[in-house]
Amino acid sequence: MTHPSLLSLDDALSRIKSAVQPITGNERIVLNAALGRTLAEEILSPIDVPAYTNSAMDGYAIIGSDLPTEGKVSLKVIGTSSAGHPFDGELQPGQTVRIMTGAMLPLGADTVVMQEQVERNGEMARIGTGHRPGQHVRQAGEDLATGQPVLKPGRKLTPADLGSLASLGFGEVSVKRRLRVAFFSTGDELRSVGEPLAEGEIYDSNRYTLHAMLTRLGVELIDMGVIRDQRKAIEQAFLDAATIADTVITSGGASVGEADYVSETLAKLGQVDFWKIAIKPGKPLAFGTVNDTLFFGLPGNPVSAMVTFYQIVQPALLQQMGQDDSTPLRLQVTCSTNLKKRPGRTEFQRGLLQRDEQGRLTVSGCGAQGSHILSSMSKANCFIVLPANSTGVHAGEPVEIQPFAGLI
Ligand code: AMP
Ligand code: MG
Repeated sequence: MTHPSLLSLDDALSRIKSAVQPITGNERIVLNAALGRTLAEEILSPIDVPAYTNSAMDGYAIIGSDLPTEGKVSLKVIGTSSAGHPFDGELQPGQTVRIMTGAMLPLGADTVVMQEQVERNGEMARIGTGHRPGQHVRQAGEDLATGQPVLKPGRKLTPADLGSLASLGFGEVSVKRRLRVAFFSTGDELRSVGEPLAEGEIYDSNRYTLHAMLTRLGVELIDMGVIRDQRKAIEQAFLDAATIADTVITSGGASVGEADYVSETLAKLGQVDFWKIAIKPGKPLAFGTVNDTLFFGLPGNPVSAMVTFYQIVQPALLQQMGQDDSTPLRLQVTCSTNLKKRPGRTEFQRGLLQRDEQGRLTVSGCGAQGSHILSSMSKANCFIVLPANSTGVHAGEPVEIQPFAGLI
C-alpha cells in the first residue's frame, strides 16, 4: 500500500538494477591484498584437498581387517608417522604405526585407533573391540577433488576464501579493478570541518559518512569537497566527476523543485530522473547518468542520506563492482518498545538489538527518529524495517531487523 504519487522501494530498486552495468577491467593481485575484492575468475582446485590420506586423531594406524571381533589383538609397532614426516614403508597384517593428527597414513593402513583406546606395551600395541574399519581417516580429496570448482567469479573474497586459495597453492588472484566513486556535497550553508561557522551555517557531515560507507565497500574514493550552490561550480563539478569516476554521489539539493542548480545542471548534462521513493527517512533521490557515469543524488538530511545509501545506492554499487547478489541479512525478533508509524512508506527506524534477561534477542526503538538526528544512527546497531502498510508496532510484537554489522 504505497502512496500513489510515490515510487515503491522495490520499483526503484528494480529500475536501478536494470540500468546498471558491471564495470570491466581486472587486475592480478597477491592474496594479502585481496580481502573484500571481487573475484574475476573461476577457481578450480588444482590438487586434491587433503592432498594425501591422513589421520584425524593421534593414535595408531592399522589395517582394518586386523581389528578383533572379540577379545584383543596385539600388533607390532614398526614406526611413527608425524606431520611432515611420513612413515617410509608398507604396513603388513599384524603391524601398526604410531600416527599423529594430520600425518600421512602409511601404505597399507586404512584405519586409525585413538591413542586413549590402545594399551601400549613396549613394541606391542593392544587393541580391543568397538572399532570400525576405516575410522578416523581423512581421505585424499575429501574436501576438494582435483578440478572441482572452489570459487566463482563475482565472489566478494572473505578471510576463509583467502585461506582456501592459499591451501590450494594460489599466491595471486584475478579480481575486478576497484570501482571509482566521486562524491561531493552541495549547499551554501555547508562548511568543511576546520573552517569557522558563520550564522546559519553547519558542518558538512554527509561527506564523512559517505567516505566511511564507501571505504567499507572497498571502492576508490574521490572526495570533491563542498560545492557552492552556483551554476558554474556545480556544472564543473559534475563534468570533472564524470570524467574521472564510474559513479558520482552527491548529497543535498535532490528534492524536486529545489532552488539550487543541481537538478538544472543534471537536466542539461545527463539523463537523470528525480524520484520520490516511498521510504522514510529518505524519499527524494536523483538517479541517472552523466555521460557514461552513474549518478546518485542523495537527500541532504544526514539520516536520510545514510538510509538511502544503504538501501538503494549500495546494492547498485555492488552490482557495478560485479559482486554476487548479497541481500543483507534480515532477522525477525520481538520488539520491546512501541513504535509509531503512518501507513504509506517503508520505514527504516533505528533500533538497538540486545539480549533480554532470558537471553532472547529483542530490539527496541532508538530514541528520536527524525531524519536529521544522526546520533540515533550512532546509537543504533540495526534498522527496524517496517513495511509500507504497517500502522506501528506494539511492544511484544515481532519485527524485521537488518543488523548493521555482519561477521565475515
Ligand atoms: P537539502 O536536501 O539540500 O534540501 O538538505 C536537507 C537538509 O539537510 C538541510 O537541513 C541541509 O542543511 C542538510 N544537509 C544538506 N547537506 C548536508 C551535508 N552534507 N551535511 C549535513 N547536513 C546537510
Ligand atoms: Mg541544499
